[in-house]
Amino acid sequence: MTDLELAPPGPGEVLVRLHASGVCHSDYNAVDGTAGTRCPAVLGHEGAGVVEATGAGAGVAVGRRVMLSWMPACGHCAECVRELPHLCGAAWEGMGHGGLLDGTPRLSRGGEPVYHYSFLSTFAERTVVPAACCIPIPDGVPFDVAALAGCAVATGTGAVWRTAGVRPGDRVAVIGCGGVGMSALLGAIAAGAHPVAAVDVSQDKLAAAEELGATHAVSWAGSAEATAERVVEVTGGGVDYAFEATGRPEAALAAFLSTRARGAAVLIGIPAGDATITLPALPIPRLERRILGSIYGSSRPERDLPALLELYRRGRLPLDRLVSKRMPLDAVQDAFAAMRGGEALRVVLDLEGVT
Ligand SMILES: [Zn+2]
Ligand SMILES: [Zn+2]
Repeated sequence: MTDLELAPPGPGEVLVRLHASGVCHSDYNAVDGTAGTRCPAVLGHEGAGVVEATGAGAGVAVGRRVMLSWMPACGHCAECVRELPHLCGAAWEGMGHGGLLDGTPRLSRGGEPVYHYSFLSTFAERTVVPAACCIPIPDGVPFDVAALAGCAVATGTGAVWRTAGVRPGDRVAVIGCGGVGMSALLGAIAAGAHPVAAVDVSQDKLAAAEELGATHAVSWAGSAEATAERVVEVTGGGVDYAFEATGRPEAALAAFLSTRARGAAVLIGIPAGDATITLPALPIPRLERRILGSIYGSSRPERDLPALLELYRRGRLPLDRLVSKRMPLDAVQDAFAAMRGGEALRVVLDLEGVT
C-alpha cells in the first residue's frame, strides 16, 4: 500500500470513507493494458462507504451510507438528452482523462498528480467523487452487497432487463459466470426466463450457477461452434438472448450461434481494443438474429441502483451469494489472481479495517 494525498472535496464533490470495494475485470484490464488508462492511477470502481465531508452544493448528507455509481451523467449532452445517460459523452470523456468532472484529480503524491479510475478509485481508505456518483444505501443492506450493485450487478441485471428486455418464458444463456455473468443469470431468473443455461470453463462456477437457479450447466466445449451446439440442444432449439460476459471474441461467437430466430447475442464483456468478431452473415437477415451491445446494463443509476438493493432486501435477488471471498486492501494482487484463476465469483476488499 502507498500513502497518497487527497485534496478536500470541491464544489459538487463528496469525500467518502470506503468500507468495501469489489474487484472487477475492468480494473485488471487497466493493469494488463487491455484498456488504456491514465497512470499512475488508483484503481477500483465498485465501492460503498460513508460520506465524511462534502463540497459546496453537493446535496448529500455527511454520515450517509452510500454506494457508488461510476456514471455521473451530465444530463444535457446529446446522449443524456435522448435518455441514454449511461452513454453520457461528457462523463465518458472525463473518465478517460483520469480527473473528476472539472478534469483535474484530487489525488497526488509528492506534489505530482495521481489519477482517478472511473471517477471512483475505490482501492483506498477514502476517495473524493462527484456527488452524482453517490446513491444512498437503504437500511439492512451491507456495504459489500451495495458495492457490487454499483458495477457488476447493475451491468449484469441491466443487460437482461434494460438492454434486452427479457420477458417471462424467454430462453436465456449466460456465457461467463463471474460477477457480471452471475448477475445476468440472477436477473434472468428474477424476470421469469426459462430455461436459463450457464456456460463456463470452470466446473466450480457451473456448480454455483446451478445453485443460484440455472436450469442447465454447459462446459465450454473447446470451440464456439461446439459450445453453441450444446446450448442449442439443452435449451430446446436455441435461446432468445445469449449474454456474453467475458469479452472474448470466441465467446461472442458462441453467444450468437446459441440464439434462435429473432434471438440476440448481448455483448457485455469488454474486449481488447483491437479485437474483431467474425459472424455467419446469412442468419442475420434470414432469421433476424441480432447482436446487441450493453454497457453498464443500459442503466440509469439513480433509478436502477436503489431498485436492485430493494430487490435484495425483499429476497428477490440473493446478491450476497455473489461475494465469494473477502480480502484486505493490501491483498489486492491476490484478489486479482483469484479473479483471473476463475476460483471466485466476486472478491470484495474489506476496507473497514484499514486505518
Ligand atoms: Zn466493473
Ligand atoms: Zn451527458
